[in-house]
Amino acid sequence: MPPKIDTRKCTGCAGREESFCENICPGDLMAVSAESGKAYCRTPSECWDCMSCTKACPNGAIETRIPYQLGYFKASLRPIMGKKSITWKCRDIHGNEKTYKYVNRLD
Ligand code: SF4
Ligand code: SF4
Repeated sequence: MPPKIDTRKCTGCAGREESFCENICPGDLMAVSAESGKAYCRTPSECWDCMSCTKACPNGAIETRIPYQLGYFKASLRPIMGKKSITWKCRDIHGNEKTYKYVNRLD
């Protein structure tokens, strides 16, 4: 499933030569629209859900929709990066949300 952009949160990484999501995507799939100034995935069928763009966005504007084989279309997963941890917000098909926080750097 391609990433879903919250256009209210996406700033287009204004002021940067290349947005964080464009810069990190291993498939070069992310772009910022010249018209709207918002990010989008230009080839959704080629996205392999690595979630790099989701983690890299400093505004939490990207979420991953969980494919129906795993959680049905309304389910989603959204990471919030901390300096030494990552917090995952998981929403199921009924809108119930659970939060999981993991330390990912011990130095
Ligand atoms: S990194 Fe986030 S704020 Fe920046 S262009 Fe991508 S979605 Fe928008
Ligand atoms: S999830 Fe991975 S492959 Fe898909 S658009 Fe984001 S960075 Fe690219």
